[in-house]
Amino acid sequence: ERGASILCIGPAGERMVSFASVSMDGHTNFGRGGGGAVWGSKNLKAIVVKGRGKVDVADCDSLNKVQSDIMKMLNASPFLSGKSGLINTGTLALLDLTDFRRMMPVRNFSATWFPETGKINAQEMKKIYGRRNYGCYGCPVKCKKFDLKGNPLPEFQSASHLGPLNDNDDIRSIYEANLLCNDMGLDTISFGGTMACYGEFRQKFVTGSQLVSFVRKIAMKEKGDGESLAEGSARWAEFNGCKELSMTVKGLELPAYDPRGAYGMALGYAVSNRGGCHLRSYPVRHEILRRPVATNRFSFEGKARIIKIEEDENASADSLLVCKFLLYGAGIEECARGLTSVTGISYDAQDLLRIGSRIVLLERWINAENGFSKKDDKLPKRFFNEPGSSDDRLEIPPLPEEEFELTLQKYYKIRGCNENGVPRDEMMDSSGAGK
Ligand code: SF4
Repeated sequence: ERGASILCIGPAGERMVSFASVSMDGHTNFGRGGGGAVWGSKNLKAIVVKGRGKVDVADCDSLNKVQSDIMKMLNASPFLSGKSGLINTGTLALLDLTDFRRMMPVRNFSATWFPETGKINAQEMKKIYGRRNYGCYGCPVKCKKFDLKGNPLPEFQSASHLGPLNDNDDIRSIYEANLLCNDMGLDTISFGGTMACYGEFRQKFVTGSQLVSFVRKIAMKEKGDGESLAEGSARWAEFNGCKELSMTVKGLELPAYDPRGAYGMALGYAVSNRGGCHLRSYPVRHEILRRPVATNRFSFEGKARIIKIEEDENASADSLLVCKFLLYGAGIEECARGLTSVTGISYDAQDLLRIGSRIVLLERWINAENGFSKKDDKLPKRFFNEPGSSDDRLEIPPLPEEEFELTLQKYYKIRGCNENGVPRDEMMDSSGAGK
C-alpha cells in the first residue's frame, strides 16, 4: 500500500527455522539471530506501519545545521562517495578487497583466497543484471543495489557466503539463492555458513543449483536434510559428531571476514554478545579500510580497548537507529549534536559512549545470567591451528592463541568484567546498568 512499510516473516519464520529472518518491504532483512523464528513462535506474521505524524523537534535550526555538516562529511568520505564506494558500488565492492587482503572465507573457512572472485564480483553482477541505487527510507547514501527488474542484488555478506564459502563461482546461483532467501525469510549468512559446514562434512560442497534448491528445503523444513539443517550449523554439527566444523561463535555463524586477516575482528567476534557478528564492533574499518587511521591487522596490540570503544559506539548508534555506515563519514559527535537538537537535552559524544557501554554491559550480564561466560567467548579451533592462504607477498598464519587469550583478559578488565567474562557488581552499579 502506498506510504506503508511492511515487516514480515516468510515460510522459514512460520516453521521456526533457527535462522529465519524478518524482511522489511521485501528487500532489507533483519537477518541475524533468528528473529523470524521468534515471530513465528508467537504467530506474528507481519507489522504494517502507516502514518502522517511528525516528530517534534526542539531546535530545527540546529538540526538543519547538523544535517548539512553530516552531508558534507558523507560526501568527503572515499568509502562512501568514492568511485568504488558504497554509493556507487554498494557493499559488494568489499568482495575484491577481502580477497585481495587474503581474508575471504572460502570452503567453510578452510582457505582465505578465492581465485574465481572476478567471476562473481560487483562488476560482473552489474554486467549481467544492471544496477540502480536504492536505500532505506530517507537515506542519502542508498548503498543498496537493485537490478533493472527491481530485484535486490546480493550484498557483500550474502555473495561471500552463497559463493566462495560454499566453493561456488556460479554468479547466477548466487543471485537466485539470495532472492529466494529473501522471499522465504532466511538469513543468508547463517544459511551459507550452515551449507558450508554440511559441504565440508560430506567432503563435497553442493553445486550452485543444488544450493538454490536447499534454500527451499530448509525454509520448508523438508524431511531429511532440510529439516536437520534448519537447526543451523552448531546443532547440526553437534548431532553429526563434527562440532569443529561449525564455524560459529555462541552458535551464530561467522560473517564474511576471516579473523586470521584482522586480529581485532577476531576479538570482536569472540566477545560479541550475540555471537558471530561483525556489527557489534567493526575493526575492519581501521584494520582494512584504514579509517580514521590504519592499525596493524596482524597484531592484538591495543585491540582490547579499541573493541570496547567500538562496541560502545555501535550500541549507542543502534539505539539511536543510526546506520553504522554513517560512521564512515560523520561520527558519534554528530549523532550527539543531532540528539541534542531533537530532544533539547544536551548530549555530547562521551555521554553517548557511556550509554553504549551501559547497554553492552547489561547485555553481557543478561548473557551471564543465562549461563554464558568465558567458555563462550571463543573462536573455532581452526583459526588457531590452520593458516590461511598465503602467497609470495603475504603470509596468513594461524592466530596466536596465547596473545588472543591475553587480549581477551585485557578486554574483560577494560569492560569491567571478572576473569571469567562476567560483569562485576560494582561496574554494574557505577555504569547505571544496575540489576
Ligand atoms: S541506511 Fe545504511 S543500509 Fe540503509 S541504504 Fe543507507 S547506508 Fe545503506
